[in-house]
Amino acid sequence: MDTVTRPRILVVGAGFAGVECVRRLERKLSPLDADVTLVTPFAYQLYLPLLPQVASGVLTPQSIALSLRRSRKYRTRIIPGGAIGVDLKSKVCVVRTITDKIVNERYDYIVLAPGSVTRTFDIPGLTEHAFGMKTLAEAAYVRDHVISQLDLADASDDPAERAARLQFVVVGGGYAGTETAACLQRLTHAAVKRYPRLDPKLIRWHLIDIAPKLMPELGDKLGRSAQEILARRGIEVSLGVSIDKAGPEEVTFTDGRVVPTHTLIWTAGVVASPLIATLGAETVRGRLAVDAEMTLPGQDGVFALGDSAAVPDLAKGQEGAICPPTAQHAMRQGRVVADNVIAALRNQPLSPYKHKDLGLVVDLGGKDAVSKPLGIELRGLPAQAVARGYHWSALRTNVAKVRVATNWLLNAVAGDDFVRTGFQARKPARLKDFEYTDSYLTQEQVRARVEGQPALESP
Ligand SMILES: Cc1cc2nc3c(=O)[nH]c(=O)nc-3n(C[C@H](O)[C@H](O)[C@H](O)COP(=O)(O)OP(=O)(O)OC[C@H]3O[C@@H](n4cnc5c(N)ncnc54)[C@H](O)[C@@H]3O)c2cc1C
Repeated sequence: MDTVTRPRILVVGAGFAGVECVRRLERKLSPLDADVTLVTPFAYQLYLPLLPQVASGVLTPQSIALSLRRSRKYRTRIIPGGAIGVDLKSKVCVVRTITDKIVNERYDYIVLAPGSVTRTFDIPGLTEHAFGMKTLAEAAYVRDHVISQLDLADASDDPAERAARLQFVVVGGGYAGTETAACLQRLTHAAVKRYPRLDPKLIRWHLIDIAPKLMPELGDKLGRSAQEILARRGIEVSLGVSIDKAGPEEVTFTDGRVVPTHTLIWTAGVVASPLIATLGAETVRGRLAVDAEMTLPGQDGVFALGDSAAVPDLAKGQEGAICPPTAQHAMRQGRVVADNVIAALRNQPLSPYKHKDLGLVVDLGGKDAVSKPLGIELRGLPAQAVARGYHWSALRTNVAKVRVATNWLLNAVAGDDFVRTGFQARKPARLKDFEYTDSYLTQEQVRARVEGQPALESP
């Protein structure tokens, strides 16, 4: 059969949702049924929940970057690049390849799974001075940066500079921020022993959040347990507090405190990929408004899921409830969307997505953890076993499982070498540099490209 006559399925994003969808399409469709194409800037699926462990050096970056080409059975065509706009009317996705070439990719069915980016607010200095924890490059950068602060403090004879370099601020008391602060504090706590000139008491970690509780999803008791663990480690938790302004050498909190620091890590939530705005469709708090079957109402062949879509949470049974942006939902939605794309191809009825949340696991490093699997509250080693067991089993490939397990073992036995690689030294390190948030087209630019008019000025 000629390629042209086969339906074209285009999946955007190789994260939890996109990869799960593609693998199922490959399994359930024969190569003659449809052409499946995946647009992704990277050649791996990133296992984001373990990013704080990369930042703290417990895991190597490669161990959580799962290859998209691991098996010969993987036959999806991969376009290395990012989608920068979608024109629903003409069914064209505009892609910027990794060589900056712009191509129009036509589709019959599109699955939008570009995930989310770090949510920022209009706080002076924030986007220039804060680091995120959403990409592998950010995690590797933050690790190098934190170690460089110890190196620079050690080399300095200025007490004020030493104190500033040894203070660290993490904003965001959700699981990402809490794990990041906890894991990085363990890194500096262990590293400082190799710096005999540094007073360990000068190292101060701050974890702040505007909300009145840490990780409210855990419930009051477990949230308090997590806070006690952090306090025991010397992490200062400030709730009901955010940032007023950020500078290169200090951060001002909303309660008036001015903290001299060179390290501001911003993990205060996520917002849907800017790609979603290029569609000009209805959104719910920035996420594409889809129905329970994860289709875009009124549009033929458009599916969206994961962090970028507001998928109704049918298991909650509450009017207007939408699934939280978690890997747990994204993966499962990926499977249902694949089935729904196939059903649409065959003119069969689509199935709604319904999944009851399995709970939350929070790895605070070492033997510290709090977990709530299926509503059961766990602390310490049992919680840690569940957290690591859950993540380990969720890694897609066996080779990744072996890499992660080996890294955990090696780190437990031999500790960290505190190597600063310098790979990204002196490179721009703003959120937009890591998350490419400024590379998208406006709706007018998408239209112009699709209609073959001279391209409007690029952003
Ligand atoms: C530090 C941290 C810890 C977390 N811990 C947990 C946890 O313990 N449990 C849990 O359930 N969830 C956790 N999450 C949330 C979870 O990782 C996300 O909800 C999940 O990754 C969402 O899956 P997704 O497929 O929608 O997006 P992602 O997994 O982020 O994948 C999106 C993919 O799309 C690609 N992409 C982006 N833009 C484009 C574009 N324009 N064109 C093409 N491709 C694009 C990205 O490179 C990425 O590969 C954590 C998140 C973070 C940051």
